[in-house]
Amino acid sequence: MMHFNTKMLIRSLQKAKNAQYVFRNASSGLPDLTKDRYPVNRADFATLGDKHLQFFRDLLGPQRVITDPAECEGYNVDWIKAVRGYSTCVLKPKTTEEVSKILSFCNDHTVAVCPQGGNTGLVGGSVPVFDEVVLCTSQMNTIYDINDTSGVLICQAGCVLESLDEALAEHGLMMPLDLGAKGSCHIGGNVSTNAGGLRLLRYGNLHGNVLGIEAVKPDGQIIDLLSTLKKDNTGFHLKHLFIGSEGSLGVVTKVAIHCVPKPKAVNLAFVGLPSFENVLKVLKRAKRDLGEILASCEMIDESTLEVCTGNLKLRSPIPEYPFYMLIETHGSNNAHDEEKLNGFLGDVMDSGLVLDGTVTNEPSKMKNIWDLRERITEGFILDGYVFKYDVSLPIEQFYSLVPVFRQRLSNHPDIVRITGYGHLGDGNIHFQVSCKQFSREILEKIEPFVYEYTSRLKGSISAEHGIGFRKPKYMKYSKSPESIAIMKDLKKMFDPKGILNPYKVLPP
Ligand SMILES: Cc1cc2nc3c(=O)[nH]c(=O)nc-3n(C[C@H](O)[C@H](O)[C@H](O)COP(=O)(O)OP(=O)(O)OC[C@H]3O[C@@H](n4cnc5c(N)ncnc54)[C@H](O)[C@@H]3O)c2cc1C
Repeated sequence: MMHFNTKMLIRSLQKAKNAQYVFRNASSGLPDLTKDRYPVNRADFATLGDKHLQFFRDLLGPQRVITDPAECEGYNVDWIKAVRGYSTCVLKPKTTEEVSKILSFCNDHTVAVCPQGGNTGLVGGSVPVFDEVVLCTSQMNTIYDINDTSGVLICQAGCVLESLDEALAEHGLMMPLDLGAKGSCHIGGNVSTNAGGLRLLRYGNLHGNVLGIEAVKPDGQIIDLLSTLKKDNTGFHLKHLFIGSEGSLGVVTKVAIHCVPKPKAVNLAFVGLPSFENVLKVLKRAKRDLGEILASCEMIDESTLEVCTGNLKLRSPIPEYPFYMLIETHGSNNAHDEEKLNGFLGDVMDSGLVLDGTVTNEPSKMKNIWDLRERITEGFILDGYVFKYDVSLPIEQFYSLVPVFRQRLSNHPDIVRITGYGHLGDGNIHFQVSCKQFSREILEKIEPFVYEYTSRLKGSISAEHGIGFRKPKYMKYSKSPESIAIMKDLKKMFDPKGILNPYKVLPP
């Protein structure tokens, strides 16, 4: 822990208890079946029978065809326990050829398929709506190559993000993306959702960092787009169709990613502020004064931090303030970075924008601070039920949803808290209304108003989590009818029978 200003109170962090990520079973009890909670009808797909199961067992062997109801349950429920399907079959292919044979067979027999990676998606895209077969990539976890010089990683889609980071560290490299779900999410899921995360501000999104993709179309055709080139202007860049299309056009089986050098110097500041106005001023100064070393700029409001300190019993290194910011720098020379960061922090303290804070470059202390940000989603589940929204807004209005909804939903007895936090540097806020339990009345007070509001401000109704099952009918608030029509045409071309991830992404 370093002193960056004599006026500032630097507190040592106690090691947070229970710092493991708890991705499944964060609360007891299952949500209602999706078919009962939402107005959706099963399409005319085949119901799984012995001949289908026999084909799968012949192809994969009995071990990789899961039919035990208790074992299937975890693949039917999403991470935040908002949706639940009732699939009776989970398939675990190991190779692209196996994925191809599964899809070809399912297409021929009109069997619906739900691709699943780490099942950490937050919009209900990763689990079946009804009884779709789950195609899980957990056994597709081979790393083929890490090139120290070009920084290119080639691997299968089921590699866990954190494992990739660990493997890359041995080569002095790092994944360009990082998210709270890194211990569970798969790189294929990240690519399919175009995941953003905590360092997008510095390293950009996956449309820029993915160099190549191998994918399998719903009819089983393998499309080899696994280029490792930075520059390649030959025809249409088809890989982009699979980035962010959430498993609606094909199953991603391999990826080539441009990875970045692991920074030699990493510093993290956690500061408390009195108002959102000050948050904006500090953001502006961070961009100006930290320039090329600024890697993350996140914001948490007081009520959100309480889910970590209250529900998860994590310790904050500073007392309560209305707003907090996490500012991380990545560079190649620690003396240079410390000087810059200290200068910046001294300035924002002296000018009264920041009231208190702590700064560190010790890995264990940085992890404890990042836990306060990365474990928020887990903490909310313990409130009961959380309505979670992920929107981009013009930076001046970044926090405006929170006061608007606090007024709109004031005095509702079932509401636990209404809060906002998120990727301030990218203009992407996560807005939550948590309640003791799911309430249709509250849902109807939030939707579609939250999307209308976002659209009026020319924001995006999904900044990084995607559309999944929860938002197709609201896509119109961010995309024109013409763009939606083209997306539907593409879906028809790739998947004429509509077997891949039905009821998701595109409006009916
Ligand atoms: C604690 C926590 C923090 C998070 N933080 C962030 C964050 O900062 N930024 C962010 O963007 N997201 C975040 N998320 C959301 C989620 O982690 C990301 O969307 C992630 O990319 C999903 O990866 P996954 O492997 O779990 O995919 P899944 O959840 O299994 O699937 C997500 C979607 O991709 C499809 N899919 C999965 N694998 C494939 C494949 N191989 N081929 C085709 N389609 C596939 C699924 O059908 C589904 O539609 C967070 C989630 C949690 C729980």
